[in-house]
Amino acid sequence: MNAAFPDIRVGIGTDVHPVEPGRPCSLLGLLFADADGCSGHSDGDVAAHALCDALLSAAGLGDVGAVFGVGRPDREGITGAAMLTEVRELLAARGFAIVNAAVQVIGNRPKVGPRRAEAQQVLGELLGAPVSVSGTTTDGLGLTGRGEGIAAVATALVRAGV
Ligand code: MG
Repeated sequence: MNAAFPDIRVGIGTDVHPVEPGRPCSLLGLLFADADGCSGHSDGDVAAHALCDALLSAAGLGDVGAVFGVGRPDREGITGAAMLTEVRELLAARGFAIVNAAVQVIGNRPKVGPRRAEAQQVLGELLGAPVSVSGTTTDGLGLTGRGEGIAAVATALVRAGV
């Protein structure tokens, strides 16, 4: 490795959950009153989950399933914010600093744009690093286009050996 160049590593994360009519919509660490939320063992925040996976991926620490377990009773209803905090602490304990992260929500609702700044601030404070938030649709195609689910993809950069 080139000692003059910092040990920067990239990671990727993806998540999809079904939309559950009437469930509160937790997304991007926020609550959206104007949309149905996602079902799931947790609060269904697909954006937070994708970010967690991207961070774990960058650090080579596996994935959300490995760290948080699948269907563990003690994790019932865990919030995206709590998961991001836990992942941040895990990375710090292993000598990784978060450089930045980005997450894109794919779905019809809720609209991300009007609350982008708020989401970026909340997520940025949780991770202690800049987080870029964006949103897109699939023009009516597929499970997100039909409103059956919400998806998110995320990337993260971490610096090793901190
Ligand atoms: Mg998930």
